[in-house]
Amino acid sequence: MNPLAEDYSRFVIPTYGRFDLDIESGSGCFIHDASGRKILDFGAGIAVCSLGHAHPEVTSAVCEQAGKLVHASNLYRTSPQASLARRLVEVTGEGKVFFCNSGAEANEGLIKLARRFGSATGRSGILTFTGSFHGRTMACISATGQEKVKKDFGPLLPGFQHLPFGDLDAVRAAVDSNIIAILVEPVQGEGGIHPATAEFLLGLRKICDERGMLLLFDEVQCGLGRTGYWCGWHAMTKEVQPDGVSWAKGIANGFPLGAFWASSKVIEERGPLCDLLGAGSHGTTYGGNPVSCAAGLKVLEIIERDGLLESTRVLGEYLASSLRALETSLISEVRAIGLMIGVQLSSDFPKTTRLAALEVVTRAMSAGLLVIPAGETVVRFLPPLNVTRQEIDEAVAKFSETLLILESVN
Ligand code: PLP
Repeated sequence: MNPLAEDYSRFVIPTYGRFDLDIESGSGCFIHDASGRKILDFGAGIAVCSLGHAHPEVTSAVCEQAGKLVHASNLYRTSPQASLARRLVEVTGEGKVFFCNSGAEANEGLIKLARRFGSATGRSGILTFTGSFHGRTMACISATGQEKVKKDFGPLLPGFQHLPFGDLDAVRAAVDSNIIAILVEPVQGEGGIHPATAEFLLGLRKICDERGMLLLFDEVQCGLGRTGYWCGWHAMTKEVQPDGVSWAKGIANGFPLGAFWASSKVIEERGPLCDLLGAGSHGTTYGGNPVSCAAGLKVLEIIERDGLLESTRVLGEYLASSLRALETSLISEVRAIGLMIGVQLSSDFPKTTRLAALEVVTRAMSAGLLVIPAGETVVRFLPPLNVTRQEIDEAVAKFSETLLILESVN
């Protein structure tokens, strides 16, 4: 065991199944390991580094802000926070934004918003979906529709029901007088890249309107450009407007930042939804940190300036079709929406010592390519939005090489 691995094993709580890779630095679509080896990174920190590693303009924005002011309490105003809130409202719709530090916290905020919204009528139930992932806080594991995140952490927060993803009849049947909101990922990410259909999202909106419920979108993984649209769900439909949206991951290219938006829709006698969480009702020390917000502002500026939404749609299709063209029996389906791509490994994947996705990801890493497992049988490609065709070709070649070796070994 090398000294770094030894320190991890002795001093870091082992919550993560880490790969045997020590990352030293990164640049664009590549990372460099401790031995100086260059590895193509098509995980981008699990959909975080939308502009690649060490983007010089983001680094400058961060350094400039860090030289002026790193932190100020939310008892006061700072301009990066207000500017980023304004920009997020511009891309999402009329409303207001709360800043926090992670995706789980952003969803926690949406859950609190829903609970407060329901408190006037005594409604507190929230519907979510099987296969979903909403984060690791107690509220978020309660919301998540996967048993593995809940194991041994009970009692969970009451009030959540998980329904089959895409099943409007199940939603209609589950709505009763206690349900106040539906929380859904427009594209399930950790669940294996499953986009909701337009029909499903439109149906959820209709049910929420009919029953006075909130429609909340978890866009932590699929938002802010990853699907080729600011609003991730626009890849499926632009006809739906949610009442709340959560973000994190790609928002600041790796600077810790999360946020949620609440619409300015007016609730009878109670004013706009976005003003329901008034002074003293919610908060976090680091939320809206000026350095993270300066990074976020620069990320959104560059995505817009460089036409990266459009190129995400084009390059996503290019990457997906290159993967579909691979002649291999190991892939049964490639699901793609922008640069969120899930390679479904076939059900007759050969027996290996590791689970199928883990086996492929580990071998791809040895071949010089980082990709990300989702569950047991899906491999995700989540490259930076400014990836090039040449980098895509290189990644697909390495992936193909990995699968060929696996096919020949078994
Ligand atoms: N929601 C979704 C859709 C996610 O993919 C994730 C993380 O993978 C989260 C929430 C949790 O975000 P974080 O890890 O920043 O708390």
